[in-house]
Amino acid sequence: MSLSFDLVPGTPVTAPEEIARVLSQDPGFGIHFSDHMALATWTDGIGWHDDQVTAYAPFQVDPGDAVLHYAQEIFEGLKAYRHADGSIWLFRPEKNAQRFIRSAERMDLPRLEAEDFITAVTAVTRADAAWVPGAEEQSLYIRPFMFAAESFLGVRSAKTVTFATIAGPAGAYFKTGLSPVDIWVTTTWSRAGDGGTGAAKCGGNYASSLIAGKEAYAHGCGQVLFTDAATHSWLEELGGMNVFIVTQAGELVTPPTSGTILDGVTRDSILQLAPRFGLKPVERPIALAELLEGIASGAIPEAFACGTAAVITPISAFRYAADGGDQDATLANPFGQATAALRRQLVDIQWGRAADEFGWTTRVA
Ligand SMILES: *Cc1c(COP(=O)(O)O)cnc(C)c1O
Repeated sequence: MSLSFDLVPGTPVTAPEEIARVLSQDPGFGIHFSDHMALATWTDGIGWHDDQVTAYAPFQVDPGDAVLHYAQEIFEGLKAYRHADGSIWLFRPEKNAQRFIRSAERMDLPRLEAEDFITAVTAVTRADAAWVPGAEEQSLYIRPFMFAAESFLGVRSAKTVTFATIAGPAGAYFKTGLSPVDIWVTTTWSRAGDGGTGAAKCGGNYASSLIAGKEAYAHGCGQVLFTDAATHSWLEELGGMNVFIVTQAGELVTPPTSGTILDGVTRDSILQLAPRFGLKPVERPIALAELLEGIASGAIPEAFACGTAAVITPISAFRYAADGGDQDATLANPFGQATAALRRQLVDIQWGRAADEFGWTTRVA
């Protein structure tokens, strides 16, 4: 039986003037939260129950709750976009729903059917429609997540699990807006290995990537690029974004997602859009040596990172440790034609300014 996530009557809402005040300044990312959240509980032997949309409020967390100790947790991230006519749309939510199922499988959490995931996301978006910004590049960021909610310190999968969806207005993800970022290539730290959790969207992957982010900041970079754990000679992805290179030969290349790389919705969309701009989409391993040589020779003029939060972020340089100090491989054309065209096309589809020929967008309000 499918879940309905009905709105609990009488939940308090923020005054329209206060919402307008928050939205009129750049809301930033992940700072403000809207009035409602979706909730459901899973109990072993019973399944999902008590699904609802209720007031956004703190959880009661028992100090013995397994998630605090063993990190049995997964999440998703997607956005609701307000079109010029005021209507509100989601972008490929079924892809997030399917990935949530795969992440749950890997972390031995219960399956939440794709239909129920989309119902929860839709219900929160509708309840908090007033929080969906209308300004350029702003959206409602939606964060579904699931965690072990059983107070038990034995090491096994939880028999009580909470599913929740929260949301909040989002402006540009990077403080610097669209300006290209320098990327630190770490060969010290790894985010994923064979048989690990790299392909699951789980908090643990983020926890283990934070130290590499610190290393990146210490080297003057805004983001970190991970290489393969075994040899540190192949590109994988950033802590929360996939990576692409554009070649002089007209290829748009990204490493394959087999096992250690997260299967990004933005990544998939970009691969499908590539032919429109005369680019050949290619999924193949990219050697760090190929990247550095290609940038030096001009064979790789553009590179970018991509993900729901920041859409496409142009890369200005890859910085890496070399004999005698840091070296930079500086892209000839950081926010070049291909990067700009792909980004424009994607955001135009998301905000309803371009024809949605793939049927990627779904109206929810
Ligand atoms: C979420 C995420 C991405 C981007 O995926 P999208 O579906 O495009 O938002 C890339 N890499 C990692 C590690 C992620 O967690």
